[in-house]
Amino acid sequence: MSHVPSDARICFRCGYTTPDAAPGTCPRCGELLRGVRRVRALGWVLLALGAILVVGVGTIAVIVTNIVLHTGAPGATTGFEGGAGVLLLTYTLFAVIISFGAASVASGVWQIRYGRPNRKLMFVVLGIGFGLLIAGRIARVLLHHW
Ligand SMILES: [Zn+2]
Repeated sequence: MSHVPSDARICFRCGYTTPDAAPGTCPRCGELLRGVRRVRALGWVLLALGAILVVGVGTIAVIVTNIVLHTGAPGATTGFEGGAGVLLLTYTLFAVIISFGAASVASGVWQIRYGRPNRKLMFVVLGIGFGLLIAGRIARVLLHHW
């Protein structure tokens, strides 16, 4: 896979690349050609959002862990009130969100580097995102019952 100039256009389906910046369809498969510059810009967005998720949720996880570890300690002002189920659910959510962020960062880096999306990484991001939606729903229902 070679480095593509920033004003080139690329076909996501077959990988056809043209230095011609004019909009059009792929001469090989008829798919709409996309601007590499735009793909790269989207890559930076994925990278930034993913990094914010990883750092943000990572920080929250550290804070929660500290609270849990210090629960019941003498002089502790905060404590963990929930049971083991809530704890497990919380850490599962942290893990899923952090994986989502990491996959998003990987996709972003790939798009910036190669000027095209990585289908496998996109599937991973979408898959984890979907899992996250379901996990969020389950969490809401479960926490409502506790
Ligand atoms: Zn094509």
